[in-house]
Amino acid sequence: MAKLTIRNVIKRYGALEVLHGVSVAAQDGEFVVLVGPSGCGKSTLLRMIAGLESISDGEIEIGDRVVNDLEPNERDIAMVFQTYALYPHMTVRDNMAFSLKLARRSRQEIEQKVDDAAGILDLTALLDRYPRQLSGGQRQRVAMGRAIVRNPAVFLFDEPLSNLDAKLRVQMRTEIKTLHQRLGTTMVYVTHDQMEAMTMADRIVVMHGGGIEQVGPPLQIYDEPANSFVAGFIGSPS
Ligand code: ADP
Ligand code: MG
Repeated sequence: MAKLTIRNVIKRYGALEVLHGVSVAAQDGEFVVLVGPSGCGKSTLLRMIAGLESISDGEIEIGDRVVNDLEPNERDIAMVFQTYALYPHMTVRDNMAFSLKLARRSRQEIEQKVDDAAGILDLTALLDRYPRQLSGGQRQRVAMGRAIVRNPAVFLFDEPLSNLDAKLRVQMRTEIKTLHQRLGTTMVYVTHDQMEAMTMADRIVVMHGGGIEQVGPPLQIYDEPANSFVAGFIGSPS
């Protein structure tokens, strides 16, 4: 069953059309990677799914609801950003609890969810620290913790690892995949890094110039690129 369906979605900024009618779906529990060069429209599409950008035309469905007119907090998604967007004046615990407090959940429920997420992400010993007292990898895990506590139907990641050094980036890929296996939640992951896409995706969506060039499992994209753009971008011999 599709958890996320994007139908003929168009994005215009004034007269400039940056997404030209994009259609793609993510199945329940699937890890889908949107990959493509800078400026091709990955973040715009992800932000439209999240409700942070309006939809000029077309339809986005999450679960079985059309979400075009819903606010971000009504969409059953959680987004993890490149810049972490942690609150510097709050502890790790409070960063993770914040959205649940806004949603007026009970104190017991908040404590339970934060403790569970901290356990999954190996953050239990760090709950009383402030973001400035954490390494880059730890901050990234807190950002994921903030998403996990909300138990969303779909996780959205926008280049979450691009601020990390190469070694940590490879390690965090594994951590995110482990998290995916553990939670079994649908995830949509944006990157411009072909290797990241190849190693993490159940299915890859190759974007270029505001459209989709090809959708398929990594090996299929690699072995049977649909056109010379995909072949060149993924780096397989054409
Ligand atoms: P990506 O994430 O793939 O690098 P983006 O989705 O950020 O690409 O951008 C896609 C295109 O939309 C780019 O050409 C970008 O310049 C344009 N764009 C993004 N945001 C705006 C905006 N607020 N106003 C006008 N153009 C924008
Ligand atoms: Mg982007």
